Amino acid sequence: MPIDVTQPYDDDNIFAKILRGDIPSVKIYENEWAYAFPDINPQAKLHVLVIPKGRYVSWDDFSAKAADEEIAGFIRAVGIVARMHDLAGPGYRLLANVGPDGGQEVPHLHVHLFGQQPLGPMISR
Ligand code: 5GP
Repeated sequence: MPIDVTQPYDDDNIFAKILRGDIPSVKIYENEWAYAFPDINPQAKLHVLVIPKGRYVSWDDFSAKAADEEIAGFIRAVGIVARMHDLAGPGYRLLANVGPDGGQEVPHLHVHLFGQQPLGPMISR
């Protein structure tokens, strides 16, 4: 169910619980600013979620309010996760759903990283 991401950050959202360790996840990568773990319902052979450790509801919130070093740390984490899986050559797809039109369901910014297969059209018709 897409959610209203103009609301204040909800500390009880699923990814906040994952960051606190209240809900288990498999760590793929972590740095000071970001945490990466497999999506529970993978949509491709490789489907990783990369999230900032800070309290940001969406890409909109993060891009407006995060400090430059947080943004750099998060973006670098995404690139590192891709390179950990040798995806620079074959390629991959990044996706950040934002708000109702984007279909965002969890109100903590996350980038989906899909790979290890041809990914087809960018948007379903
Ligand atoms: P959104 O639609 O918000 O862009 O994507 C949310 C994603 O979070 C979905 O792909 C969903 O499978 C994933 N997800 C939801 N709950 C959990 C969970 O408890 N653990 C993990 N690893 N992924 C989750």
